[in-house]
Amino acid sequence: MIRTISVNVDEKLSVDKFNIDERNPHIILKDNPSTAEVDKLILCCPAALYKRDSQGEVSFDYAGCLECGTCRILAQDTVLEKWQYPGDARGISYRYG
Ligand code: SF4
Repeated sequence: MIRTISVNVDEKLSVDKFNIDERNPHIILKDNPSTAEVDKLILCCPAALYKRDSQGEVSFDYAGCLECGTCRILAQDTVLEKWQYPGDARGISYRYG
């Protein structure tokens, strides 16, 4: 017998808590990264924090970062100026259940 399991990702993520360091972003993008490299991150960031608007402008908000490291692996040398875990008990606190 096959059992179907349905997971609402937005609902699961909404229980997590973020303690954002407003003065010290843990991820900073380079100036004018290549379109192809940013497009990888738009597709792969599980929190959908990399965006491109209809004018082609890229935006990024580190505040919802899940600290998964996907962008670091994919584009540390091409898109990212800085990637480090938030310090001093900052960043995400996962809450399951
Ligand atoms: S670490 Fe993960 S969640 Fe955070 S910006 Fe990179 S890909 Fe997105």
